[in-house]
Amino acid sequence: MAGCATAPRQDFGAVPEPGPSFVETTVTPDTILAPPPESAPVIVPLVSPATTNPPPSTLRNAPPESVPVVETWVPLPRWCAARGLTGLTRQTNAPQPTYQVPLPQGLLVLRAGSLVAQFHGVQIRLGFAPQMIGGQCYVHSLDLAKTVEPLIRIADSPVGLAGPIILLDPGHGGPDAGTRSVLGGNSEKDFTLDWALRLRELLIAQGWQVYLTRTNDVEVSVAARTQLADALKAALFVSLHFNSSGNSHSESGLETYCLTPAHMPSSLTRGYPDDLKASFPNNSFDVQNLQLAVRAHRETLEALGAVDRGVRRARFLGVLRPQHRPAILMEGGYLSHPTEARLIASRAHRQKLAEAVARAIGGPRQQVAENKP
Ligand SMILES: [Zn+2]
Repeated sequence: MAGCATAPRQDFGAVPEPGPSFVETTVTPDTILAPPPESAPVIVPLVSPATTNPPPSTLRNAPPESVPVVETWVPLPRWCAARGLTGLTRQTNAPQPTYQVPLPQGLLVLRAGSLVAQFHGVQIRLGFAPQMIGGQCYVHSLDLAKTVEPLIRIADSPVGLAGPIILLDPGHGGPDAGTRSVLGGNSEKDFTLDWALRLRELLIAQGWQVYLTRTNDVEVSVAARTQLADALKAALFVSLHFNSSGNSHSESGLETYCLTPAHMPSSLTRGYPDDLKASFPNNSFDVQNLQLAVRAHRETLEALGAVDRGVRRARFLGVLRPQHRPAILMEGGYLSHPTEARLIASRAHRQKLAEAVARAIGGPRQQVAENKP
């Protein structure tokens, strides 16, 4: 992600004004395990673990804006029972135990005190670390509504219901080269365009009408990228990037981003304000965003065997926030990592990247048909 620090003006359209620095704020294991920052919610269990009352209303309906949802925690066993999910198991008796929740499409693994969850072998960053209260695991209602519920429905939720048009966004372009490969030669802008062109051909074969925000080496503003999506009435928006950890050559792997839901802390802020109360047009697609991100991330991980750096959420990504459609941003590997940079420079590798994303997206018409009652 820091690779884009070389060109902050075009860094996914990050808000330009306040950014004090573009220092990489990669989430390390320490920060993963740390309690949530200033936004740390007061733990207010809605339901006593001993009661047999029905689940809190927040489980049945999305909380209205006026409700201070950041103070809502739900006991995991009670929530599983309310959702008809059986098989919840506690894996360890450690002070910060791990829980396994069998969902219809895969196993969800939650760890008390950790922002890192696993679903069907894919790492997903939570907004709040689950808490142990009275020997029982509590999960934040926003994570249940915005992360776990979408995973329950991930198989029957089409990603492109609004039509057959998809807009691919090869990151950077023109004087904004993005990050440079540690091997020299090409830059991020070259590889993102090649990835998008390969993906275009595959998606056309799958029934999509595919547009790109750029088809050659030109600079395109963030505003132009998002306005094009509206002009096209695109059903999906997929932004493609490659990563960098600056002078460190040790980090590698895949990250996939979607917009942070309102009231939830972001996985990554890069020094920008992370206004939890902020709500953007793309927040109307919180569920579909996560589903698309998880699908794309899993397919890509499986295809490449790369390091899993997780499905993450960020609020500063300007190309995602204004989108009136499901939208994700993929970081397809580290150009600062010599081995990964060598792979990314290979056409065969970039073809694998394109094929993985195409598999994740599927075809629009088929999905529309499947969704009809
Ligand atoms: Zn980039």
